[in-house]
Amino acid sequence: MTTPTSESISPVDAHRAAVSPDAGLDRCPLMPNYGPPAVQFVRGEGPYLWDSRGDVYLDFLSGLAVTSLGHSHPAVAAAVAEQSQRLLHVSNLYATEHNAVVATMLDQAVGDGDPAGGQVFFCNSGAEANEAAIKLARRFGGHGRHVVVCAFQSFHGRTLATLAATGQPQKWEAFQPLPEGFRHVVWNDLDELERSLDETVAAIFLEPVQGEGGVNPATIEYFQGVERICRERDILFMVDEVQTGLGRTGRWFGFQHFDVSPDVITMAKALGNGVPIGACWAKADVAASFSPGDHATTFGGQPLATAAARAVLSTMKAIDAPERARSMGAAISEALVKLPRVTECRGLGLLLAVELDGVDAKLVAAECLKNGLVVNAVTPTAIRLAPPLTIEESHIAEAVNKLAGCIEAVVAASESI
Ligand SMILES: *Cc1c(COP(=O)(O)O)cnc(C)c1O
Repeated sequence: MTTPTSESISPVDAHRAAVSPDAGLDRCPLMPNYGPPAVQFVRGEGPYLWDSRGDVYLDFLSGLAVTSLGHSHPAVAAAVAEQSQRLLHVSNLYATEHNAVVATMLDQAVGDGDPAGGQVFFCNSGAEANEAAIKLARRFGGHGRHVVVCAFQSFHGRTLATLAATGQPQKWEAFQPLPEGFRHVVWNDLDELERSLDETVAAIFLEPVQGEGGVNPATIEYFQGVERICRERDILFMVDEVQTGLGRTGRWFGFQHFDVSPDVITMAKALGNGVPIGACWAKADVAASFSPGDHATTFGGQPLATAAARAVLSTMKAIDAPERARSMGAAISEALVKLPRVTECRGLGLLLAVELDGVDAKLVAAECLKNGLVVNAVTPTAIRLAPPLTIEESHIAEAVNKLAGCIEAVVAASESI
């Protein structure tokens, strides 16, 4: 493997080389808000990716839990191709053919097979789905009752409001002043949550498994306690399922592990298998807080994206994607905990973090990439795995083997210094 490494060339050159290996540009035309990429991918099929040099990689990150059906899935590709030749966009001033169908399919997923009685707003991303939820909560609460309580270590997006909701103060600093009306509490601590509430609180907003925060699942006591508190006080229980939704955790939605019924559910990542689409589902009486004109989007719910989502949801149902996530997740966890230097494998289904003892997770992720395995360091000490839900035992064996070798290589390199 001959991917550029940070030892051999400067980050700027590496960035330029990966972004435009053949363009011969003397400066990178992209903003520096992302770190220098080590590789440029040009093709994907199932769980495999190929880079611009022709090297192959096993993708156990799925573009951050997005391509849950693997790359270039034939049903999604066909739906996108067909739709693109017929109608791409007309705006939400008019009806289009897939959005009510997709909304109905999502409502059934929320009800775990039965209609859940909710309604859906479509948008283009996770942050937008969360913006819709936050605006809905403010509309529901009314004046003076607008606060959304979130957890520390949560991640809800990068727009100003979703950044304010995100429970990572180090990410807030550079962007003050942030929108008001967010309060943060310690994760999985029901007493603290209860103490944080007053008459100004409209909603509690939580991830069933904190994804970006390090793959930290909620406890069942916590989610059930939150639901009880919300019912007692007439506060909305909102869950951010942008990363956990649509089969990833072994259920259609992460909250279903905890036997609760949230009022508002946001989703995005896996919904289009790579075509940008987000959605905010709400119980009908909550959704009724919105009147025409309260919220809108130009692109959200357009035929290209909803055609992709329709193909994704039909395929996920046909292959029982949640069941695959459950069984493959159990198989991979069992193999991972046996590896040297692995102290814990946490998460649900196929959203997992491998906690390492005394090994830099960033170095391990970089070594994996050099050796043809795509994963990422979700914390300084943990590797995140979010493979396609379509993986088979052979892919697990290949990934676990590579990961073991890369951990060993990083340990050996640090001991030889
Ligand atoms: C990725 C993510 C978001 C943000 O989604 P974008 O599509 O990047 O805006 C929000 N919430 C959670 C839980 C996420 O994992």
